[in-house]
Amino acid sequence: MAKIIDGKAISKAIKDEVKQQVEEWKQQGITVTLAVIQVGSNQASTVYVNNKKKACEYTGIRSLSYELPEETTQEELLSLVRELNDREDVNGILVQLPLPAHMDEDEVIRTISPKKDVDGFHPQSVGALCIGQPGFVSCTPAGIIELLKRSGVEIAGRECVVIGRSNIVGKPMAILLLRENGTVTVAHSKTADLKAVAKRADILVVAVGKAKMITSEYVKPGAAVIDVGMDRDENNRLCGDVDFEDVEKVAGSITPVPGGVGPMTIAMLMHNCLESVKLQGK
Ligand code: NAP
Repeated sequence: MAKIIDGKAISKAIKDEVKQQVEEWKQQGITVTLAVIQVGSNQASTVYVNNKKKACEYTGIRSLSYELPEETTQEELLSLVRELNDREDVNGILVQLPLPAHMDEDEVIRTISPKKDVDGFHPQSVGALCIGQPGFVSCTPAGIIELLKRSGVEIAGRECVVIGRSNIVGKPMAILLLRENGTVTVAHSKTADLKAVAKRADILVVAVGKAKMITSEYVKPGAAVIDVGMDRDENNRLCGDVDFEDVEKVAGSITPVPGGVGPMTIAMLMHNCLESVKLQGK
């Protein structure tokens, strides 16, 4: 049976480290501040935004909340972002996605200062990641690297297969594994013989968005299996892209859903808020 990688416990450890740093900086007169903007009232977004605010409360990070109506114009949102870019007392800016259909998300992301881009979605942050320069790293893949390291999974020199090539998970994940000296393959919906490719992996990261798609037939015995998926099963219960019950029989270690990758994303957002203070040279 595979060892379960406990994302809840690891995420708490990271939030506790952040909390300690925030307290130390407070004593030096530095307050860490995150501005969170939500446009409209998408239910899932409201849950995510509330969880982010709770994590701020836990770590002692000050959060400024901007809840804008659905009919907010692109220009109104951009001018709020510019105002927050200019504010000395704001370290990180997060615009909750997705935005309403009449808005241009790419333009909004490009308008956030790269020094305050705690989600790591700005093209400059992505470019910096690719060429190994300082900058923000997208929270979910950054959290996966922490999960692996803190669970004692060696990355250097090992075969890593990432299934999925999205801009927010698959691509940055592949670059981060490469940065850790893994030998990386990225698979996607056009990959021929996905089972054979996946079975090469010592570390298999799955981010496809298809409930329980990955069975034991895709997994090399002893591999570390990281399940990014947040899907619904036939009974409408939260599950991952990996068929947990089947794969845990062959994997060396595995993340559950819920309680694996999910909690890490918010922990890394808190971590990125500390990075924002450093990047701003404070
Ligand atoms: P996405 O943008 O829809 O990308 C899915 C990727 O999977 C695409 O690259 C696609 O290939 C590939 N794919 C789809 N079907 C495939 C198949 N049958 N075989 C091989 N590859 C296939 O999704 P995403 O944003 O990366 O998210 C993936 C999952 O992670 C979702 O369940 C999402 O909810 C979850 N997620 C969780 C967190 C978290 O905090 N836990 C954060 C982000 C996302 P093509 O490029 O060829 O189309």
